[in-house]
Amino acid sequence: MGVSTFAGKTALVTGASRGIGRATAERLAEAGALVAVHYGHNEQAAADTVAAIKAKGGSAFTLRAELGVPGDTDTLWQEYDRQILDHAPSADVDILVNNAGITPRGHIEETTPELFAEAFAVNVQAPFFLTQAGLKRLRDGGRIINVSSGATRIALTDIIAYGMTKGALDTLTLTLAKELGPRGITVNSVAPGIIDTDLNAGWLRGNAEAQDAAAQLSALGRVGTPEDVADVIAFLASDAARWITGQVVDATGGSQL
Ligand code: NAP
Repeated sequence: MGVSTFAGKTALVTGASRGIGRATAERLAEAGALVAVHYGHNEQAAADTVAAIKAKGGSAFTLRAELGVPGDTDTLWQEYDRQILDHAPSADVDILVNNAGITPRGHIEETTPELFAEAFAVNVQAPFFLTQAGLKRLRDGGRIINVSSGATRIALTDIIAYGMTKGALDTLTLTLAKELGPRGITVNSVAPGIIDTDLNAGWLRGNAEAQDAAAQLSALGRVGTPEDVADVIAFLASDAARWITGQVVDATGGSQL
């Protein structure tokens, strides 16, 4: 991917303060995109993402909006509109990456209505309405990439509600791809496996046994990195992926084949 692959393009990446979102923001910026680095709470981490992008000659700005609360997507777009013209000649978006997500844990017996509702509010409702409000800003020929999970293919009983949210997101991908096809906009999901991010820090980092067990789930014998997933997202965002739409691209490193 060359430094000018995304020259003149604007990308909005949700949850870009940390993890997969941050790596994606950095990849897109490296290849020339202006990146709106959305975050929820961690202002310092978002600022660090922007600083890392600028240090490599890229362009980015931060955008705060907590998702999963009333008015969330209005807040996000208002904040986008307030800032975008300081950075780009138009408010149009070329690449929307719906990445922000939470992974509430629980088998069916442990899943309360509150936990279930929160998972769907952040992982499904927010990307749905964010995309709905973004349609008029999205340029024809643009890209929508939804970050799903291998949990839609592999039955992970301890995160049942989470897996269901990603199944819903994949249905959004499929259906929206048909709706937006006439505008030349592609819509795809990327489904990561176990990736070394803060989301898994509690059980994975510093625990050699857990690392080893997680690595063995992948045919490639290691835990994934945020960059492993960011490269797939960047490919789908590029012109090289123009003939792929409505698909779930498995980026689990061949987990549990
Ligand atoms: P992460 O390291 O925990 O980072 C999550 C990002 O999302 C942060 O930037 C966070 O922003 C933002 N975010 C979370 N909840 C938010 C909310 N309510 N409102 C606004 N922003 C919110 O996560 P990750 O591991 O990179 O995961 C990114 C995506 O990949 C998620 O959709 C996840 O389901 C999916 N995924 C991850 C894995 C994995 O193993 N890591 C596997 C499969 C799928 P702040 O910190 O600033 O609030």
